[in-house]
Amino acid sequence: MAETQNSHPDNIEINYARGKRRILIIDDNHAIHDDFRKILNHDSADEEVLAAEQALFGESTSREQTVVEYDLDSAYQGEEGLGKVTKALEDGASYALAFVDMRMPPGWDGLETIARIFEADQDIQVVICTAYSDYSWNQIVDRLGTSDRLLILKKPFDCAEVRQLAAALTEKWRLGRKAAVKMHQLESAIQERMEELSNSNEKLRLEIAQREEAEDKLRHHALHDALTELPNRVLLMDRLGRCCERSRREPDYHYAVLYMDIDNFKLVNDSLGHPYGDKLLVEVAKRLNACIRAMDTNSRPTANTTARLGGDEFVILLDTIREVKDAVRVAQRIHLTLKEPFFIDGHEVVSSGSIGIAVGHESNYTCSDDILRDADTALYEAKRDSKGNFKVFDSHMRSRLIKRHEIERDLHKALERNELDVAYQPIVSLINGRLKGFEALLRWHHPDSRNVPPDLFVPIAEETGQILQIGEWVLRQACGQMSQWHKQYEQHRNLSISVNISPRQIQHPDFIAMLDEVLAETELDSGKLNLELTEGVLMNQDKSTMALFGHCEARKINLHMDDFGTGYSSLSYLHNLPVGTIKLDRSFVQNLDLSGEYTATVQAMVVLANNRGISIIAEGIETSNQLVQLQALDCEYGQGFYFAKPMSPELAGDLLAQDFVGYKCAS
Ligand code: C2E
Ligand code: CA
Ligand code: CA
Repeated sequence: MAETQNSHPDNIEINYARGKRRILIIDDNHAIHDDFRKILNHDSADEEVLAAEQALFGESTSREQTVVEYDLDSAYQGEEGLGKVTKALEDGASYALAFVDMRMPPGWDGLETIARIFEADQDIQVVICTAYSDYSWNQIVDRLGTSDRLLILKKPFDCAEVRQLAAALTEKWRLGRKAAVKMHQLESAIQERMEELSNSNEKLRLEIAQREEAEDKLRHHALHDALTELPNRVLLMDRLGRCCERSRREPDYHYAVLYMDIDNFKLVNDSLGHPYGDKLLVEVAKRLNACIRAMDTNSRPTANTTARLGGDEFVILLDTIREVKDAVRVAQRIHLTLKEPFFIDGHEVVSSGSIGIAVGHESNYTCSDDILRDADTALYEAKRDSKGNFKVFDSHMRSRLIKRHEIERDLHKALERNELDVAYQPIVSLINGRLKGFEALLRWHHPDSRNVPPDLFVPIAEETGQILQIGEWVLRQACGQMSQWHKQYEQHRNLSISVNISPRQIQHPDFIAMLDEVLAETELDSGKLNLELTEGVLMNQDKSTMALFGHCEARKINLHMDDFGTGYSSLSYLHNLPVGTIKLDRSFVQNLDLSGEYTATVQAMVVLANNRGISIIAEGIETSNQLVQLQALDCEYGQGFYFAKPMSPELAGDLLAQDFVGYKCAS
């Protein structure tokens, strides 16, 4: 049924609330209208209506409550009646009831009229007024269908019946309307509530989604490095822990940890700035990741992890390997990818990484910290050898590392406990065996009576910076000693003292001042001091080195290039350096015994040096054969166990006191 205007609940509300109930009389007989008015008019029929309504609604109905006023309206033809019904609906003042005459010539009869009114107004109640000769009830039903809105009033009318009908049907109409309003209110309330619910449901869903997203982000942040987006230490340790566990269950299972750091990363940061360094780290991370993916031959989704531990330290966890070689191949691959230059902000950087590898299997690691520590130890060893290197962990590394830590710890106290000493090794003229001077060599008498060789502890002291203090002490000792010998032995005034100086000392801003101070304090003739520097130091012509060169020239302090031949092995640059003497590395001297090839090399070096007015001290002469060969090659000076081992200052002093002329040197 199409919804008509009157049935709209908002209209209903207005209508039924109005006091008077509207009744429409449709009859072609004008007199009938007057009759209805008289019958339904309260003034004339109060008592009767009251009685009728009491009969209808019960005894308790009081007069005030039950007096119903009607607003009567008339139409004299069916069409006119329909017009009024429609208009009333439009005005929001619809009729509660219509009395419709059955016969209304010349227009529609009652049935036609009622059918149309019913069509127009779905609430209106109708009483059809008919004589016995008109349609039967069955005929009426056939035409209008069964309806609870239609009653028959037989002519001639009974007044009371008319009133009862009017009262009952308008009340029915009113209650129906009221129920509809209530229903409508209920429906709107339900609708409203449903909307509220669905709104809050939607809000809740949104909130949950947002919370899940936030949680995901938090989880990601907690497990990843912000700069490179790689897994961080926490996530790595979790995955590593799983590998450890698995290795305990599966005897054949192997996994590997590759600990990598970027060589000279500090240099990049210092020279190009931290933002640049950060970009380099991001690029390195990308390459590592790509490298791991490419290496991954497992059919299952990769469980290998590239993580950043912070700074320039990365760890690659290889979840499953067959043998150590697999991990080595990955390390080689990483070296290859890092070799390709990086282009960042218009700069080209060449980079390399050092890698320590540790392999885990059934029984070697019970906790993930241990394998990481060992990979780190292997990395340390790899870096010590050379940059861009890799090393696979073995147990000796661990003991070496422990030893290193012990040395580092004990060295701190060595100076104050007087455990350090200087030994003096003669430097001899290979022409006549005469003493040229001594090299001061540091000795450490460790409290548990083992002598720790300087090759072991000097590099550590350099790394930790302790060499600054120790080196100054050696310089003071050596200069003081030589100055004392000069004063004591007139005939030895020409002897010089050679002191080893580490790169770290030269870089120190106070080095030159300290040098002057020591010379002044010990009263050593500065021309009798030789500073032994390695090739690397001399080649690094930075500000501190250049300042030292200038200072040495002014003070006539001699610069000796130590361990010559182990580094760049080229004499071509020597004329640029204020170096008066080179010390030919022991390895050359010792190989003279073995092959003629070395003889040729040494000969070339001697010739070149002599041409440039640079003298040579051959280190590590142990045999007469070596001596003879060096003499034949015109090498001017030598030093080695063949003549004398490094000796205590007392022994050296004794030697000088004996009026020592020289070592046996003749061939
Ligand atoms: P170096 O400067 O090359 O010192 C020469 C090394 O060769 C000394 O080892 C010396 O004992 C050893 N040597 C001398 N003749 C022979 C020989 O005929 N055969 C053999 N096999 N060896 C010989 P040492 O005293 O153990 O010193 C090792 C290194 O430690 C030095 O090498 C030097 O680089 C460093 N060092 C020693 N003292 C100091 C120091 O006071 N300061 C610094 N910075 N480094 C020092
Ligand atoms: Ca030396
Ligand atoms: Ca040397």
